[in-house]
Parts: sequence; structure tokens; C-alpha cells
Amino acid sequence: MAPFKKVLIANRGEIALRILRACQAMNIRTVAVHSTVDRNLKHVGMADESVCIGPAAPGASYLNVPAIVAAMEGTDAEAVHPGYGFLAENADFAERIEESGFTFIGPRAETIRLMGDKVSAINAMRQAGVPCVPGSNGPLDGDERRSERLAAEIGYPVLIKAAAGGGGRGMRVVHEPESLIRSIDLTRQEAKTGFGDDTVYMEKYLTNPRHIEIQVLSDAHGNAVHLGERDCSMQRRHQKVIEEAPAPGITPEERARIGKICTDACQRIGYLGAGTFEFLYEKGEFYFIEMNTRIQVEHPVTECITGLDLIRAQILAAAGQPIPFTQDDVIINGHAIECRINAEDPERFIPQPGTVTGFHAPGGPGVRVDSHIYDGYSIPPNYDSMIGKLITHAESREAAIARMRVALDEMVLRGVVNNIPLHQRLLRDSGFLEGGTNIHYLEKLLKGG
Ligand code: ADP
Repeated sequence: MAPFKKVLIANRGEIALRILRACQAMNIRTVAVHSTVDRNLKHVGMADESVCIGPAAPGASYLNVPAIVAAMEGTDAEAVHPGYGFLAENADFAERIEESGFTFIGPRAETIRLMGDKVSAINAMRQAGVPCVPGSNGPLDGDERRSERLAAEIGYPVLIKAAAGGGGRGMRVVHEPESLIRSIDLTRQEAKTGFGDDTVYMEKYLTNPRHIEIQVLSDAHGNAVHLGERDCSMQRRHQKVIEEAPAPGITPEERARIGKICTDACQRIGYLGAGTFEFLYEKGEFYFIEMNTRIQVEHPVTECITGLDLIRAQILAAAGQPIPFTQDDVIINGHAIECRINAEDPERFIPQPGTVTGFHAPGGPGVRVDSHIYDGYSIPPNYDSMIGKLITHAESREAAIARMRVALDEMVLRGVVNNIPLHQRLLRDSGFLEGGTNIHYLEKLLKGG
């Protein structure tokens, strides 16, 4: 029997389509909610029912909680899947959904709240035995001498971060004591304007780390498993461009050790559903930076190497079903790579909305395309520029790269400027081919250095 009769999908684009497909395969009826400019989205046409929840501006539609709750009531949906972005990590939304008698497909509201504030998240993780970046272990107060002492103890360079920051914003690197106090003040002001919370903290700035994250899955019965790691070091302005799993060079022993630390932490905080522990990895050590309490863009690479459907797993966990396997049953099979396809200028990275005049998706063994676009689809300027993800899977990293090159060359995407040329270049770049590049690699490469 299906765990829910009807699920409302509170998102758009490729992830809404991904959720719809999982629901259909589970015999769950679907409700799509959409803004006025999104009437022609693929999943809206495929859903059993659809409700227009407002105009294009996200604040008036995809972030419009009363409209979404009203759509749930009007369609008798039992549960809501928030996808990523928009309301996915909004604890007040999760609470409102549960208070209204529906199920939020994700962790409990208090968990989202705990992890949404980076200071409380780090403290909770440190108490749970997760290794964190050396830092202030709490907010910075107005005591300038104390901040100076802390920075000297941690050692320069240090990073000043907004507790409520996200999306790569609200961070400032400080290289010398002379600019510390001014940097704290500036970050505080930016945090106040950008996130409505001026709490800032201090962390050691790691100079050459990789970004490696652990996917976890927990149920309501105290079980937690990890599904290995993903390497997301290929970034520009803290935005991920290519992700892969497993991370080059990480040994099964390292994976098992950090994975166990994460599942222990999940059990300790009563985590529910899918989640990701993000770490920086430098000189063989993992340092926790934050936890994402939602499905991530890059989840398909983990699905490829584990054979699991993570959206299905999220739905089952939210319905209270126990995970039907143990850690020992999780076998890493081969290697997977994901290229994020963005409608943007591949050199200047400026979004390029427009109309798709020709689209042919690549195919063949080990090739997956998660995208909502089609011939004639018009990309609205109001949302993220990511229009799809191309994922390849094969028995080895080399073979997955070879498949990705063929798939990128095969893909036809006309009418909109896009970053396929950048991916074609990276898939032939010597540093990427070697594997294990750090988070600064792509920016240096683009600068020609
Ligand atoms: P956000 O929530 O904005 O994504 P994160 O804390 O996840 O912020 O950090 C985003 C990125 O910023 C990381 O992937 C990494 O590239 C960089 N970063 C964060 N903390 C540090 C640090 N202590 N040292 C060096 N780089 C960092």
C-alpha cells in the first residue's frame, strides 16, 4: 500500500519533476503548485492536480505559506515534499504543516531550526563527537579584546561567518590582526541586512580544503545509515558546478569512520529522513561546516552508486516506515559524476533566460538526465539558472568521465546560452582528470592561473 494517498510538491523545475516521478512509481497521487509563469512546467502537466499559488516572484508563490497550506486543504493532500531551496529548510513552514495536520517530508521542525543556525549546529555536532573547524565555539560578542585573543589562538587567516548565512553569502576572510575588528563589524552589518540576524562567529580559514559531504538517512525508529560521500570541490563563488561520488582517494576505512560519526550524531539528535553533513577535508582530516536538512541537488550521484531512490526513502521515512536494510547492506558500486547544466554565460556566469529552441537529451547505459526542459520551453528570469543535471555512472571514475564526455558532446541545447562548454572543458582538464582538486581550483583555472 502507498505510504500516502496524495503528496503536494512545493517546488518547481527539475526537482519537482524528480519528486513527481518518485510519487508516481509509489502509486501516490500528486498535486503540483506553481506560479503564473510556471503553468507550462513539465511536472504541472503530468501531476494529477495543479494549483496556481501566485505570481512569479518567489515571495508571492513558492514561499507563500498560506497559499500552499490552502492548496493542501483544497486538494486533500496528506503530505508535502519541499524539494530544495524555497521552504525546504524553513522550520516555521515545517511546524505550520504539522500543526495543520499534514506531514512534512523532512526532519522535525526543531531539527531544522537547530541546524539552520550555524552556531547551534556546530555546538550540537561538537557535543555529538563530530570534528569541527577550530573556532570561536559560539557567537562573537562586542568584546574586541576577546575577539582578538580568539583569532590569535585560532591562528590567521580566520573566517568571520554569519550564523544565519547561506548560499555562500555572509563570510569574510581575515588575513591579519589589523583588519579583524572592521571585518567583524562589516560581516555583522551584512548579516543583519541579508539574513535579519547579526550573529557572527569565527572559524579557522582552511587554505586548501576539499568539500566532501556525507549523505545520511534516518528513520523514526532510531535507525540511521550513511550512503557514503560526495566530492563537491569543483565550485565557483561557493556554488557547486560538478559533483561526484565516491570522492577520489577516500579509503573505505575513512568512509566508514566519518560515516559512523555522522550516523551516531543522527541518532543522538533524533534526525529523521535524508540529510547531508558538509565537511571540509584537508590533510586527511574532516571538519564539519554545516548540515543540510533536505534533499540536495547532487543526490543522484549517491543514488547511482548505492542503487537507492532517495526521494522514495524520504517519503517512506516521513510515513514512519523503518529503513528496510542495514549499514552492511549499503554497497558502493562504481563511480558517478554530475554536471549542473545552467542557462548562463559560461565565462561571465550571468544567467541567460530565454526560450529553448532545440533540446535532445543524451542517453545510453549509465546516462541519466534530470531536467524539466523541452523544445519550446521558456526559462523564466525569476528563478535559479539551473535547468538540468547530467549524471553518468560506470564501473570506474575513468569510465564515468568517458561517458560524461560523450553525453556532453551528444546533448543538443539550442536557443539559450549555457555552460555545457565549461563542462566539456573541465571533463578534459588535467587537474580534474587526476581528481582530488580543492575548492579554489576552478576559480584559479578560470583566472588562467
Ligand atoms: P553556505 O551555507 O553559505 O553554503 P558553508 O558553511 O556551507 O556556507 O560554506 C560554503 C563554502 O565556503 C564551502 O564549501 C567552502 O568552499 C567555503 N568555506 C566555508 N567555511 C570555510 C572555512 N572554515 N575555511 C575555508 N573555506 C570555507
